[in-house]
Amino acid sequence: MGLLPTYQKLLENNQEWAAEKLAEDKDCFSRLANGQSPPFLFIGCSDSRNPIETITQSQPGDIFVHRNIGNQVLLTDVNVLSVLDYAVNVLQVRHIIVCGHYNCGAVGAAIMGSASGIVNNWIDGLRELYLSVKPELDLLPTTEDRIKRLAEINVLKQAKNVCKTSIIQNAFLTGRYPVIHAWIFDISKGLIKDQPLPIEEWRQLDLIPDHYVGHSQAIS
Ligand SMILES: [Zn+2]
Repeated sequence: MGLLPTYQKLLENNQEWAAEKLAEDKDCFSRLANGQSPPFLFIGCSDSRNPIETITQSQPGDIFVHRNIGNQVLLTDVNVLSVLDYAVNVLQVRHIIVCGHYNCGAVGAAIMGSASGIVNNWIDGLRELYLSVKPELDLLPTTEDRIKRLAEINVLKQAKNVCKTSIIQNAFLTGRYPVIHAWIFDISKGLIKDQPLPIEEWRQLDLIPDHYVGHSQAIS
């Protein structure tokens, strides 16, 4: 890890960034101020090591973002549901990306049972998920492997929860809906892994309709 920036440095960097952007395109901020129509909703972990705009070289206006500890989509969380509702019904995003990551502290704490304070409540669903797949994870040789695998299982579960919401179910009924993706960001390599969704299984559960166009098809 390099030198951490100071608080003052953040503000100086912002001045520099804004000046550079204006030099490239004098109207960039006035255009941004007029509104947004991002094609992507990103639901990721709050971890400081997966800044979605940086790792995908995206620009302001590209990605509508929700982040929380453990990239969870809880069906009782009015925060994530509001973001999802706005993204789907107002912004009409074309893709929803749920992104977990390796070396996730929340996933590790769920396995170890080591979270404290209110975080312990927040990640209880992750802990339950871990206990439900513990026999499978116990076959893996190291704790690191188990944390990686649970991060993968978790991101699929959270993408499944996206499909379960009335917001997405209603979008499926209209026929105009975003494509749903599950990513894992491998911090140690700086690379995103696009996890295939179990589309057929979810079809059989009536979570997604027959007409659903998955991410294997050509999409933009
Ligand atoms: Zn995390």
